[in-house]
Amino acid sequence: TYQNGTISKPKILLFGLRRSGKSSIQKVVFHKMSPNETLFLESTNKIIKDDINNSSFVQFQIWDFPGQIDFFDPTFDSDMIFGDCGALVFVIDAQDDYIEALTKLNQTVTKAYKVNPRIKFEVFIHKVDGVSDDFKMESQRDIHQRATDDLQDAGLDIHLSFHLTSIYDHSIFEAFSKVVQKLIPQLPTLENLLNILITNSGIEKAFLFDVVSKIYIATDCAPVDMQTYELCCDMIDVVIDLSDIYGLTSEAKATQEQTAFDGQSSSLIKLNNNTILYLKEVNKFLALVCILREENFIRQGVIDYNFLIFREGISQVFELRSKKMESEDDDYPL
Ligand code: GDP
Repeated sequence: TYQNGTISKPKILLFGLRRSGKSSIQKVVFHKMSPNETLFLESTNKIIKDDINNSSFVQFQIWDFPGQIDFFDPTFDSDMIFGDCGALVFVIDAQDDYIEALTKLNQTVTKAYKVNPRIKFEVFIHKVDGVSDDFKMESQRDIHQRATDDLQDAGLDIHLSFHLTSIYDHSIFEAFSKVVQKLIPQLPTLENLLNILITNSGIEKAFLFDVVSKIYIATDCAPVDMQTYELCCDMIDVVIDLSDIYGLTSEAKATQEQTAFDGQSSSLIKLNNNTILYLKEVNKFLALVCILREENFIRQGVIDYNFLIFREGISQVFELRSKKMESEDDDYPL
């Protein structure tokens, strides 16, 4: 599944008990809802295929327990659902009793694995904002232990990854970034391109962002520090908000066919600590956000030139990929 002939999009399914926080995650990550507003979200009983699919790099669906999904129901088409899925995220509410959630996790993982053993299984231990650090560590250890024991007892050697998440800070974006990165076969190449770009341009740190979700799909090899990541996220919000307000004519807004964020988008923010944030659009979904020291920005021409080469590299990587996919069999997980 790739669109516009360039990019194959990772498909992610979100499972979990009712009230575990799935719709909140979806609203906060993909629809810019503020975390406090999720308090008033109504529980939904249907499968949500989010319409972000045309605007985001990531495809995304939500499945609700209990009631909605009965794996033994003959009408449940597990081949269709799990067949082309890249990652399955299971949300567990850490502020609640999680025994039932663990049973569902086990059923879901077992079923999905039988259909498609290539799926990456990710467990979000969610709502960890209200709990102490000790409690966080203890529940992660306990959930990890029980979940893996259950699978081993059933004779299955399935790898689960665990993330501590909350919609009240950036941990949910960070966790999603990790999940999405595992689904991008071109990741090492992208990282390499970013490394080359920053070394030759005097940049401190660079992220390749999915603009709609603020998930970063790759970064250079320097360690990620949460504050830097948050700054870059905030910058994207500012740029999108300004583009929405001033970037479109009223006719274009009325038809909603265009977005203001396009091939020409770029933005520069100077902070008062000698740091510069520089954003450049890469393609329909992706933007590069860099952090650099002011004194290195005098060579903006060099940076812009290097960026053009970088963008060319990125588009070649994805084109290669889609050519390869065309010649391969269709049942590739991405
Ligand atoms: P769903 O049924 O799985 O879609 O769950 P909802 O998204 O409706 O969330 C249920 C409740 O959990 C809502 O009142 C949310 O405000 C709350 N919630 C979701 N995520 C978090 C979180 O990270 N921390 C806290 N404290 N509450 C959360």
